[in-house]
Amino acid sequence: MPRKLTDTYHKIGELLVRRKLASPEAIDEALALQRSRIAQRQTPPPLGEILIEKKVLDRRLIREILEEQKIGRGEKKVLKVDLRDADGVAVVVLDGRLDRTKETSITRVLERLMNRGFARIAVDAAKLVYLDSHGISSFVAYIDEARARGGDVKFFALSGDARFVLERLGLAKFVQTFAKEDEAIRAFDLPIDEYMSRGALAEYLSSEGRKGRHYHLSYCPVAQRIPEDDRVYFESKWHARDAGKQPCPKCRP
Ligand SMILES: [Zn+2]
Repeated sequence: MPRKLTDTYHKIGELLVRRKLASPEAIDEALALQRSRIAQRQTPPPLGEILIEKKVLDRRLIREILEEQKIGRGEKKVLKVDLRDADGVAVVVLDGRLDRTKETSITRVLERLMNRGFARIAVDAAKLVYLDSHGISSFVAYIDEARARGGDVKFFALSGDARFVLERLGLAKFVQTFAKEDEAIRAFDLPIDEYMSRGALAEYLSSEGRKGRHYHLSYCPVAQRIPEDDRVYFESKWHARDAGKQPCPKCRP
Protein backbone atom coordinates (compact mmCIF):
# COMPACT_ATOMS: atom_id res chain seq x y z
CA MET A 1 0.00 0.00 0.00
CA PRO A 2 1.48 3.36 -0.96
CA ARG A 3 1.55 5.75 1.92
CA LYS A 4 -0.22 9.05 1.79
CA LEU A 5 1.32 12.41 2.42
CA THR A 6 0.80 13.09 6.06
CA ASP A 7 0.50 16.28 8.03
CA THR A 8 3.70 15.38 9.79
CA TYR A 9 5.72 15.95 6.63
CA HIS A 10 4.18 19.35 6.13
CA LYS A 11 4.74 20.29 9.73
CA ILE A 12 8.40 19.31 9.56
CA GLY A 13 8.72 21.27 6.34
CA GLU A 14 7.26 24.35 7.99
CA LEU A 15 9.53 23.96 10.97
CA LEU A 16 12.63 23.69 8.79
CA VAL A 17 11.71 26.80 6.85
CA ARG A 18 10.88 28.75 9.99
CA ARG A 19 14.25 27.86 11.47
CA LYS A 20 15.93 28.72 8.18
CA LEU A 21 17.37 25.21 7.98
CA ALA A 22 15.88 24.71 4.53
CA SER A 23 14.49 27.03 1.88
CA PRO A 24 10.78 26.92 1.01
CA GLU A 25 11.87 25.92 -2.51
CA ALA A 26 13.76 22.88 -1.20
CA ILE A 27 10.71 21.79 0.81
CA ASP A 28 8.35 22.34 -2.13
CA GLU A 29 10.66 20.34 -4.34
CA ALA A 30 10.77 17.49 -1.82
CA LEU A 31 6.98 17.53 -1.41
CA ALA A 32 6.55 17.48 -5.20
CA LEU A 33 8.78 14.42 -5.35
CA GLN A 34 6.67 12.71 -2.68
CA ARG A 35 3.48 13.56 -4.54
CA SER A 36 4.76 12.19 -7.82
CA ARG A 37 5.74 8.92 -6.10
CA ILE A 38 2.25 8.67 -4.63
CA ALA A 39 0.76 9.35 -8.07
CA GLN A 40 2.85 6.42 -9.36
CA ARG A 41 1.43 4.34 -6.52
CA GLN A 42 4.81 4.07 -4.89
CA THR A 43 5.73 4.65 -1.28
CA PRO A 44 7.22 8.13 -1.08
CA PRO A 45 10.51 8.48 0.78
CA PRO A 46 10.24 10.50 4.00
CA LEU A 47 10.80 14.22 3.59
CA GLY A 48 13.90 14.00 5.76
CA GLU A 49 15.43 11.33 3.52
CA ILE A 50 14.91 13.47 0.43
CA LEU A 51 16.51 16.48 2.06
CA ILE A 52 19.47 14.40 3.23
CA GLU A 53 19.94 13.01 -0.26
CA LYS A 54 19.83 16.51 -1.73
CA LYS A 55 22.36 17.60 0.87
CA VAL A 56 20.01 20.17 2.33
CA LEU A 57 20.33 18.64 5.79
CA ASP A 58 22.41 16.07 7.57
CA ARG A 59 20.98 12.99 9.18
CA ARG A 60 21.79 13.91 12.77
CA LEU A 61 19.90 17.20 12.49
CA ILE A 62 16.83 15.45 11.09
CA ARG A 63 16.88 12.98 13.95
CA GLU A 64 17.04 15.81 16.49
CA ILE A 65 14.15 17.62 14.84
CA LEU A 66 11.98 14.50 14.76
CA GLU A 67 12.69 13.93 18.43
CA GLU A 68 11.61 17.49 19.23
CA GLN A 69 8.43 16.99 17.23
CA LYS A 70 7.58 13.90 19.28
CA ILE A 71 7.97 15.80 22.52
CA GLY A 72 5.89 18.66 21.11
CA ARG A 73 3.11 16.28 20.14
CA GLY A 74 3.13 14.87 23.63
CA GLU A 75 4.18 11.39 22.53
CA LYS A 76 6.24 10.97 25.64
CA LYS A 77 3.44 11.88 27.96
CA VAL A 78 1.49 9.37 29.93
CA LEU A 79 -2.22 9.52 30.59
CA LYS A 80 -3.50 10.68 33.93
CA VAL A 81 -7.15 9.93 34.67
CA ASP A 82 -8.96 11.82 37.41
CA LEU A 83 -12.55 11.68 38.52
CA ARG A 84 -14.79 14.30 40.00
CA ASP A 85 -18.48 14.84 40.55
CA ALA A 86 -20.50 17.63 38.94
CA ASP A 87 -24.19 17.61 39.86
CA GLY A 88 -24.37 13.83 39.87
CA VAL A 89 -22.43 13.52 36.62
CA ALA A 90 -19.11 11.69 36.89
CA VAL A 91 -16.51 13.85 35.16
CA VAL A 92 -13.56 11.82 33.85
CA VAL A 93 -10.60 14.15 33.40
CA LEU A 94 -8.08 12.98 30.83
CA ASP A 95 -4.65 14.53 31.01
CA GLY A 96 -2.08 13.38 28.48
CA ARG A 97 -2.17 10.93 25.66
CA LEU A 98 -4.97 8.47 24.93
CA ASP A 99 -3.79 5.74 22.58
CA ARG A 100 -4.02 1.95 22.43
CA THR A 101 -1.66 1.50 25.38
CA LYS A 102 -4.13 3.33 27.63
CA GLU A 103 -7.19 1.25 26.79
CA THR A 104 -7.08 -0.79 29.98
CA SER A 105 -6.81 2.19 32.30
CA ILE A 106 -9.86 3.80 30.68
CA THR A 107 -11.79 0.53 30.73
CA ARG A 108 -11.03 0.07 34.42
CA VAL A 109 -12.35 3.55 35.31
CA LEU A 110 -15.53 3.15 33.23
CA GLU A 111 -16.09 -0.37 34.56
CA ARG A 112 -15.87 0.95 38.12
CA LEU A 113 -18.29 3.81 37.39
CA MET A 114 -20.83 1.49 35.79
CA ASN A 115 -20.61 -0.96 38.68
CA ARG A 116 -21.35 1.85 41.09
CA GLY A 117 -24.39 2.84 39.10
CA PHE A 118 -22.96 5.91 37.40
CA ALA A 119 -24.42 6.07 33.92
CA ARG A 120 -23.91 9.81 33.44
CA ILE A 121 -20.34 10.35 32.43
CA ALA A 122 -18.74 13.48 30.99
CA VAL A 123 -15.21 13.31 29.63
CA ASP A 124 -13.08 16.40 30.12
CA ALA A 125 -10.71 16.44 27.14
CA ALA A 126 -9.17 19.87 27.73
CA LYS A 127 -5.79 18.40 28.65
CA LEU A 128 -5.89 15.58 26.15
CA VAL A 129 -2.87 16.00 23.89
CA TYR A 130 -3.40 13.00 21.66
CA LEU A 131 -6.32 10.75 20.78
CA ASP A 132 -6.34 7.86 18.33
CA SER A 133 -8.96 5.40 17.16
CA HIS A 134 -8.00 2.85 19.82
CA GLY A 135 -8.25 5.46 22.53
CA ILE A 136 -11.72 6.51 21.51
CA SER A 137 -12.91 2.95 20.95
CA SER A 138 -12.32 2.19 24.62
CA PHE A 139 -15.26 4.52 25.33
CA VAL A 140 -17.61 3.36 22.62
CA ALA A 141 -18.64 0.08 24.26
CA TYR A 142 -19.60 2.01 27.39
CA ILE A 143 -21.63 4.62 25.55
CA ASP A 144 -24.22 2.00 24.62
CA GLU A 145 -24.25 0.61 28.12
CA ALA A 146 -24.61 4.06 29.69
CA ARG A 147 -27.45 4.93 27.30
CA ALA A 148 -29.21 1.65 28.06
CA ARG A 149 -29.20 2.77 31.69
CA GLY A 150 -30.62 6.17 30.88
CA GLY A 151 -27.30 7.98 30.91
CA ASP A 152 -24.61 8.75 28.37
CA VAL A 153 -20.93 9.40 27.86
CA LYS A 154 -20.48 12.93 26.55
CA PHE A 155 -17.26 14.73 25.72
CA PHE A 156 -16.29 18.34 26.16
CA ALA A 157 -13.33 20.58 25.32
CA LEU A 158 -12.06 18.32 22.54
CA SER A 159 -9.30 19.81 20.40
CA GLY A 160 -9.72 20.23 16.66
CA ASP A 161 -7.49 17.20 16.09
CA ALA A 162 -9.54 15.05 18.45
CA ARG A 163 -12.79 16.09 16.76
CA PHE A 164 -11.23 15.19 13.45
CA VAL A 165 -10.54 11.67 14.79
CA LEU A 166 -14.21 11.35 15.78
CA GLU A 167 -15.35 12.49 12.36
CA ARG A 168 -12.97 10.23 10.50
CA LEU A 169 -14.23 7.25 12.50
CA GLY A 170 -17.82 8.22 11.74
CA LEU A 171 -18.47 8.76 15.44
CA ALA A 172 -19.34 12.45 15.26
CA LYS A 173 -23.01 11.56 14.74
CA PHE A 174 -23.01 9.09 17.57
CA VAL A 175 -21.05 10.81 20.31
CA GLN A 176 -22.24 14.08 21.77
CA THR A 177 -19.55 16.72 22.15
CA PHE A 178 -19.66 20.14 23.74
CA ALA A 179 -17.35 23.11 23.96
CA LYS A 180 -17.75 23.62 27.69
CA GLU A 181 -18.33 21.54 30.78
CA ASP A 182 -21.54 23.24 31.91
CA GLU A 183 -23.10 22.65 28.47
CA ALA A 184 -22.25 18.95 28.70
CA ILE A 185 -23.60 18.67 32.26
CA ARG A 186 -26.82 20.47 31.35
CA ALA A 187 -27.35 18.17 28.37
CA PHE A 188 -27.84 15.25 30.77
CA ASP A 189 -31.17 16.80 31.75
CA LEU A 190 -32.53 15.54 28.46
CA PRO A 191 -32.70 11.81 27.83
CA ILE A 192 -30.38 10.78 25.03
CA ASP A 193 -33.21 9.38 22.89
CA GLU A 194 -34.42 12.95 22.57
CA TYR A 195 -31.22 13.57 20.66
CA MET A 196 -30.90 10.27 18.92
CA SER A 197 -32.83 9.28 15.89
CA ARG A 198 -32.25 6.21 13.76
CA GLY A 199 -28.90 5.70 15.40
CA ALA A 200 -27.61 9.20 14.78
CA LEU A 201 -27.53 12.43 16.68
CA ALA A 202 -30.15 14.20 14.68
CA GLU A 203 -30.53 17.81 13.88
CA TYR A 204 -34.13 18.94 13.83
CA LEU A 205 -35.31 21.75 11.67
CA SER A 206 -38.34 23.69 10.67
CA SER A 207 -39.06 26.85 8.77
CA GLU A 208 -39.37 30.12 10.53
CA GLY A 209 -42.65 31.51 11.78
CA ARG A 210 -46.15 30.08 11.65
CA LYS A 211 -45.89 28.51 8.21
CA GLY A 212 -43.40 26.06 9.68
CA ARG A 213 -45.92 24.02 11.60
CA HIS A 214 -43.83 20.84 11.56
CA TYR A 215 -40.34 20.01 12.63
CA HIS A 216 -38.28 17.52 10.63
CA LEU A 217 -35.23 15.37 10.70
CA SER A 218 -32.53 17.18 8.74
CA TYR A 219 -32.64 14.60 5.93
CA CYS A 220 -36.44 14.68 5.46
CA PRO A 221 -37.33 15.52 1.82
CA VAL A 222 -39.83 18.13 3.03
CA ALA A 223 -37.11 19.73 5.16
CA GLN A 224 -34.74 19.73 2.20
CA ARG A 225 -37.16 22.04 0.36
CA ILE A 226 -37.05 24.71 3.09
CA PRO A 227 -34.96 27.62 1.74
CA GLU A 228 -31.62 27.95 3.54
CA ASP A 229 -32.30 31.36 5.09
CA ASP A 230 -35.73 30.27 6.28
CA ARG A 231 -34.47 27.35 8.36
CA VAL A 232 -34.52 27.17 12.12
CA TYR A 233 -32.61 24.40 13.85
CA PHE A 234 -33.39 22.69 17.15
CA GLU A 235 -30.94 20.66 19.14
CA SER A 236 -33.62 18.24 20.30
CA LYS A 237 -37.25 17.24 19.71
CA TRP A 238 -37.96 18.76 23.07
CA HIS A 239 -36.68 22.15 21.92
CA ALA A 240 -38.77 21.90 18.74
CA ARG A 241 -41.93 21.04 20.66
CA ASP A 242 -41.23 23.86 23.07
CA ALA A 243 -41.25 26.22 20.11
CA GLY A 244 -44.75 25.01 19.26
CA LYS A 245 -43.78 22.71 16.39
CA GLN A 246 -45.46 19.37 15.63
CA PRO A 247 -43.61 16.29 14.37
CA CYS A 248 -43.69 15.94 10.59
CA PRO A 249 -45.97 13.05 9.57
CA LYS A 250 -43.59 12.08 6.79
CA CYS A 251 -40.20 11.72 8.51
CA ARG A 252 -41.74 11.09 11.94
CA PRO A 253 -38.91 12.58 14.00
ZN1 LIG B 1 -40.32 15.76 7.68
